[in-house]
Amino acid sequence: MKTMTCKQLGGACDKTFSANTFKEIAEFSKAHGAEMYQANDAPHMEAMNNMMELMKTPDAMMNWFKEKEAEFDALSEK
Ligand SMILES: [Zn+2]
Repeated sequence: MKTMTCKQLGGACDKTFSANTFKEIAEFSKAHGAEMYQANDAPHMEAMNNMMELMKTPDAMMNWFKEKEAEFDALSEK
């Protein structure tokens, strides 16, 4: 299992997620982000808006995703 924080995954807080694959951890972070968005949490709404901006440019989104995946892969197993 590897651990990353909400912030490391483009979010806004220090909540941690643990998963075996990047795909899995991205799903956890997405679910958490959606939850916080529903709760009208301002920092998370801002983070989500930044991600939305990024998604307007598929290349930028792809690069971001690849970068985060590399970050995840570089982590040591815990
Ligand atoms: Zn968060």
